[in-house]
Amino acid sequence: MLNSTRTTSLNPLLEGLRPSPTLAMSMRMRERAAAGEEVYRLGFGQSPFPVPEEVVQAAVAHIREKDYLPVSGLWPLREAVAAFHQRTSGQPCSPEQVLIGPGSKELIFNLQFAFEGEVLLPAPSWVSYAPQARLTGKQPRWIHTGAQHQWKLQPAGLEATCEQVGDVPKLLILNSPNNPSGQSFSPEECRELAAVARRYGLLLLSDEIYGELHHEGRHSCMAPYYPEGTVVTGGISKWCGAGGWRLGYAIFPPQLQWLQQAMSSMASETYSAVSAPIQYAAVNAFRGSQSLDDYLQASRRILKAIGQYCYRELRQAGITLPPPDGGFYLFPSFESCKGRWKHQTITTDRQLCEKLLDETGVALLPGSDFGCDPASLCARLAYVDFDGEKALQAVQNGHIQPEDAAFIPEYAPLIQQAVQRVREWTMP
Ligand code: PMP
Ligand code: GLU
Repeated sequence: MLNSTRTTSLNPLLEGLRPSPTLAMSMRMRERAAAGEEVYRLGFGQSPFPVPEEVVQAAVAHIREKDYLPVSGLWPLREAVAAFHQRTSGQPCSPEQVLIGPGSKELIFNLQFAFEGEVLLPAPSWVSYAPQARLTGKQPRWIHTGAQHQWKLQPAGLEATCEQVGDVPKLLILNSPNNPSGQSFSPEECRELAAVARRYGLLLLSDEIYGELHHEGRHSCMAPYYPEGTVVTGGISKWCGAGGWRLGYAIFPPQLQWLQQAMSSMASETYSAVSAPIQYAAVNAFRGSQSLDDYLQASRRILKAIGQYCYRELRQAGITLPPPDGGFYLFPSFESCKGRWKHQTITTDRQLCEKLLDETGVALLPGSDFGCDPASLCARLAYVDFDGEKALQAVQNGHIQPEDAAFIPEYAPLIQQAVQRVREWTMP
């Protein structure tokens, strides 16, 4: 009896921990599709585009690399990431400042683990930040934003929370372009938030995994505005279509070397190093080339066209949402439909998503998974259910422009059907 109690005891930090909503939804979609049910996969946010051929070829060429690599990453890769960061943010960066990890998700977790103090999260924020904070024994503190501010953290809200929290170390996690809202901070917004961060001496984790997918190619990196306190994370999962390759990076300023060293030691005791062939291949991705620039350019135009289409169609149906300017997500609120639709039994966002999936096959994730009030009936829509390879080829070969009216029906028919189904479903 005693023995069985011992062997079944769970670390209390894991109590209530469930599979991450994004990955759980991805599994659920596979099961539904296998059972022959209709599915529109707007729940899981994965790049629809293939890994660029030259990056694939680099992985193939290095498949025999079998040795463990240095814990902080392959030196040429750290050089390439530093040069990439310098090119895209305008901020000087040396390879010593770069830490390579098995996806930025793991690096974000390790940073939260290494940090002692309060974790501040804007609501909505990406699904994994808060569970990660809890896993490290911290209760994240939400800072509510609002539809009237396009779900963007406001300097005044940040300031008020910093005052409330008082004199303890504080970590703020920001994400731009944003998952779930599809919104990006402008240079001015970065400057204003940075001023508050500096005033309160915050540690700022700027998750810029969608930076290269700003639809106009005009991403504002947070680090130049608050260099001494900002850690930037990114990777190849989104702009390079390589989510399953599991490679990300974090860039630390010299002032936060203590944190970088602690995270590198954690790496040495946990994952050791990222897979060698993938690190060699990623060197090519970060060095860049004309063909990678063309790939990115076409990816952005396609995402912009599809994002704008979904935005327009939903807005016309009376659903509230801000127009996206980066990444591949939308964050509609169905609250405005409440008075007029036939689904009077729906009072929470989870009920909404379940009923929508049941009745239309369209998968969305409830806003409460992102820290929002369940009663506000928000949901996240990932507009990635289309054949990215086919769309990219057609655009790059000049067969069609993403802005043409024929593009959506021809190259994103499932997105079109899904959005029309959502519209119809919300009608009286
Ligand atoms: N941040 C955000 C906002 C994300 O959507 C994701 C999902 N891939 C990640 C971080 C983690 O990315 P990865 O671990 O694949 O680098
Ligand atoms: N980032 C993706 C999403 O938000 C999924 C990948 C993940 O959660 O690790 O849907």
